[in-house]
Amino acid sequence: MTLPVITVQPKGVGRLRAGHPWVYRSDLASDGAPAGLVALADERGRELGTALYSPHSEIRVRRLAPPGVTVDTAWWHGMLTAALARRAGIADSGYRVVHAEGDGLPSLVVDRYGDIAVAQLLSAGLEAVRDDVLAAIRDVLRPAGLLLRNDPPVRERERLPRETTLAFGDVPEHAPFTEGRLTLAAVPWTGQKTGTFLDQRENHERVGRLARGRCLDAFCYHGGFALQLAAGGADSVTALDTSVEALDVLEAAAGRNGLGGLAAVEANAFDWLREAAAGRTRYDVVVVDPPAFAREKAAVARALAGYKELNLRAMQLLAPGGHLFTASCSYHVHRGEFFAMLADAAADSGRRMQLVSIHGASADHPELLTVPETGYLKAALLRAAD
Ligand code: SAH
Repeated sequence: MTLPVITVQPKGVGRLRAGHPWVYRSDLASDGAPAGLVALADERGRELGTALYSPHSEIRVRRLAPPGVTVDTAWWHGMLTAALARRAGIADSGYRVVHAEGDGLPSLVVDRYGDIAVAQLLSAGLEAVRDDVLAAIRDVLRPAGLLLRNDPPVRERERLPRETTLAFGDVPEHAPFTEGRLTLAAVPWTGQKTGTFLDQRENHERVGRLARGRCLDAFCYHGGFALQLAAGGADSVTALDTSVEALDVLEAAAGRNGLGGLAAVEANAFDWLREAAAGRTRYDVVVVDPPAFAREKAAVARALAGYKELNLRAMQLLAPGGHLFTASCSYHVHRGEFFAMLADAAADSGRRMQLVSIHGASADHPELLTVPETGYLKAALLRAAD
């Protein structure tokens, strides 16, 4: 099969050579093809490999493979197999199998929750080869059911419908999976992302190992941190979220795992933390894991002000020697800005805050050094020295 040829200008060629698979519309010399696979060439006609092409997106081209490699059913199968093999050491049964560009499969996300899988096809080019992608997932993962959570807003930039559909098999409303010693449940049809937050998987267990005394999980969602803290031996855990549905999932998990001492509280964490900081109760472990405050560059300054307020209050709430695990999943807030904000909050909190360790997303969300978009989660473990 001969593929349509798309010609890339020198700037775009430079990006590809630097290890980034995207070419923007403005960096193409010849444009226009149906959504799907294309062959890339430079202006002298030299081959640059095979890519996904999206006719309506600013990100027109996403390179899949170098010259000489045929992207066919066997190729997808091989890439899925390799991605799964990289996760071979994971003991948990809920994890990300394909982290898009991070696994060399631009615009594809595949998560596994026990015996079911949830995928996201996030570009028009990928949609056009859907049959090969779904066949590879079916053959390599052999899930009892595959749900397509093709509802994220980025699909609009590709002029694709936002929809949640069952590709095959059965996918229940609550899909059980294990995380460390706990059995949790994702909510694949309606939960955030593909049903829960797998990117904090390793951090949940890391924080659980610090459990003692009185603990607080602000922005808890399904309670990934709160449940590990309770399982780790905390005397009490307070978990805050504005979503009642999320708190219900947390309480069901606490019951299923026989965990007591957990209070799931519907509250705005900003207000709750401010009021608590003014009171007397102090906490041995505090987790602050808010949603992305900056969804675009222009929102970074406001986002940093929000993060600072939360972290300042959280620091004030710590008992002497207490730990704060703090995270930001805003891609536009870069690591340097995140740590500068934490220093600022520490200065204003009146506490002497030690940086114990720096963290990111779990290893099943691999970040490619040449594709900064693959890394968005920044986290730090801090300790109040006095
Ligand atoms: N810590 C979770 C993920 C948190 S996602 C985990 O590890 O799985 C962010 C959560 O913040 C969502 O559940 C959302 O409902 C909640 N949220 C958003 N704004 C909030 C606010 N002002 N106060 C409390 N929770 C909020």
